[in-house]
This record gives sequence, C-alpha cells and structure tokens, in this order.
Amino acid sequence: MDIFLDYKCNNNCRFCCVRDCKFIKPVNQVIKEIKSAKEVNFTGGEPTLRKDLKDFIEYAGQKKVILTTNGRVFSNKKMAGDLVGAGLNEAVVSVHGNEKTHDYLTQTKGSFNQTIKGLDNLKESVPVRAKILVNDMNYRILPKIVEMLLEKVKGICFIYPIVEGNLLKHLWLVPRFESIEKYLHESIKNAEENGLNAEVLNVPPCFLRGHEKNISKEHGLEKEKSFVKPEACKSCSYNQECSGISKDYVNLKGENVKPVI
Ligand code: SF4
Repeated sequence: MDIFLDYKCNNNCRFCCVRDCKFIKPVNQVIKEIKSAKEVNFTGGEPTLRKDLKDFIEYAGQKKVILTTNGRVFSNKKMAGDLVGAGLNEAVVSVHGNEKTHDYLTQTKGSFNQTIKGLDNLKESVPVRAKILVNDMNYRILPKIVEMLLEKVKGICFIYPIVEGNLLKHLWLVPRFESIEKYLHESIKNAEENGLNAEVLNVPPCFLRGHEKNISKEHGLEKEKSFVKPEACKSCSYNQECSGISKDYVNLKGENVKPVI
C-alpha cells in the first residue's frame, strides 16, 4: 500500500504532480493505514522530511517497508543507518539525468550529487530501485542514465509523466510516445542484460512493441480516469486490455496510436 505522508519536498521538480497539494497526513491516519497494509510504501512529497518517519517505520514492525524518496537526506550516512535500523527494507530513489539535467529538472542545485551519494549509502544496506521520470529533457540520455545506474540499483522504473501540478507550467517537457520509444527499448535491453528488473509506467503497448511485458500492471494507465480510445484502437489486438491514451496527451500531442494488428 502506498502511504502518502506529506506534499513537502526539498526539490521542486518541474514535473511534480503533487506540488499543488497542501495535504499533510495526520499521525492517526498514517497508523491506521500501516495497520491495514500487508506491505508499506511511504511516499510524498519527500517522506524523509517528516520527523516521525522513523517512528512509522518502526511501527510497521515485520511488514515490508519501502521508501520512495529523492534520496538526498541519505547523503548523510547516519540517516541511512537510522532508517535501515528502524526496519526499512527497500528504497526507490528518483534519478532523472546526469548532474546538469537532473539539477535543471529538480530546480535544485546540488540535488544530483546528494541523490547519488544517498543512493550509494542506501545500497550498502538495502536493495535500491531507481525511478526515472521520462521527459523531453532526458529521453535522449536515458541509455546513459541506465549505464550510470547499472552497478548501483536492482531495478529501474521508467515513468511517463502525468499532466498535473508543476508540469502544467512546463508542458513542453511532455514527450511524444514515438520519440521516447527507441530510447526506452535500448535502456530496457541494457538494464535486463545486466540483470536489472526494468518496468515502464503509463506507456501503451503499441509504443513498446517487443517490450510489452515490461509495462507495469500494478500502477499503470488504468489508475487514471481520463483516458480515451482513438478510433484506430478498435483494430488493435490490445484493445480489450489497454486503457488507451490520456485526454491530456491527446490535447497536447494528438490521437496518433499504432494499433497492433
Ligand atoms: S488499444 Fe490503442 S492505445 Fe492501446 S495499444 Fe492498441 S493502439 Fe495503442
């Protein structure tokens, strides 16, 4: 279960979809959600900014605890040790580029270096997966980002952005599916050849032919409500199982899909 703790963050990503939200989850609600979960994923905002995060991890006891984070606070090795000692089992760290691209996207100078240092500190004690938000600034360097992460993480998740929050002010960052396709293929191939798990979120199968098995079922398009099926989808063999493309995508980029016949 994803437990959203807080909207606050020490980055200010140009594509952040929770930036307009002002919600801080009360402690009793967090406790209730931990109790009802089989496994817990603390997320935000940046969950490490909550002073009570360590208490929540301890409270989860024997349940698997995952933390979705930008990783910056873990550049302090003690912080990594404290949370792992409290029961943290796994981390998902956001890495969106090389130093120049990452810091541009997070609008926070120095964030890349802290994130990579944090990731290195975490991986000494827990498995780490990387999360890359695929956008118009970084899709051409996706294979290079993967190359940089090969020795650091167990898996990589490539996420196509949802048009909300800060991204509404930076719509030019939304890439075309057909533009990112070849870079995703190359990146997935390299990751898998090196023993990493590779997952893709929010990209329809017709733009990932040959790597359809890498499309995440858990948190995919079906979570979004505003999806449309262009006329061309009727002839596609994925028509039953695919949710189509988002209305936002259609408004920005048009209805072009590539039915799989
Ligand atoms: S149903 Fe439509 S959006 Fe989905 S894979 Fe087929 S063509 Fe693409």
